[in-house]
Amino acid sequence: MRVTFLGTGSAMPTGERFQAGLLVQDDGRTLLLDCGAGVLQRLQQSGVGYENVSTVLLTHHHLDHVADLLPLLKARWLAGEDHLEIVGPQGTKGLVDDLLSVYDYMQDKVDLQVREVVPGEFSIAGFDVAAYETRHSLPCLAYRFDDRFTFSGDSEAFAGLANFAEGSAILAHDCSFPDDVDVSNHPTPETLGRQLDGRDIGRVYLTHLYPHTEGRHEEMLESIGAHYDGDVRFAEDLTTVSIE
Ligand SMILES: [Zn+2]
Ligand SMILES: [Zn+2]
Repeated sequence: MRVTFLGTGSAMPTGERFQAGLLVQDDGRTLLLDCGAGVLQRLQQSGVGYENVSTVLLTHHHLDHVADLLPLLKARWLAGEDHLEIVGPQGTKGLVDDLLSVYDYMQDKVDLQVREVVPGEFSIAGFDVAAYETRHSLPCLAYRFDDRFTFSGDSEAFAGLANFAEGSAILAHDCSFPDDVDVSNHPTPETLGRQLDGRDIGRVYLTHLYPHTEGRHEEMLESIGAHYDGDVRFAEDLTTVSIE
């Protein structure tokens, strides 16, 4: 399995990091997780391209996770790709209908399948996925791909999510802000470190990074390291991780 970080940023631009997006590939199958602004460009830079992404799985409906959905749809239409599947938590059908109602000319241009999923297990694009509800300001799902990869989506750090991720070779976790930002709905390094303490996880990548984190990576890693002694790194756009 290969995981490529397409966008490691968030709702406020850093000038370097695009909004949320991750590519999961295994054995010829490809799945896009989230589709924030800039993900379409990164897909092209990754060498995979929008033509090869026919399924998108959304963690939740905040703009920094869905902004490039219609641009992806339009690019595929223009390239003659005739279908796209969009899967996400409850409300995804309404979201897609509402977006298309604004851009009437995009209606019925491709065969668009929209599916809603709930916490539990389901299959998508040939992947078996487990979903777990996170703690965020909108309903949001974390996703796990067997023992290889877990993506937190947007979430506070909490024991349930750490349990869900336990045993993963790779965990990509929201770490939006440094410790001195007063925040709910997202972790700080300290809260994340406390929840990861004692967990068996191969490597943790920090993502969903606000501009507040720029220049402060070292102290953030130290803060996590005060509680959790595992391998923790900052994700960067276009970093690819191979997972056995
Ligand atoms: Zn969010
Ligand atoms: Zn977000």
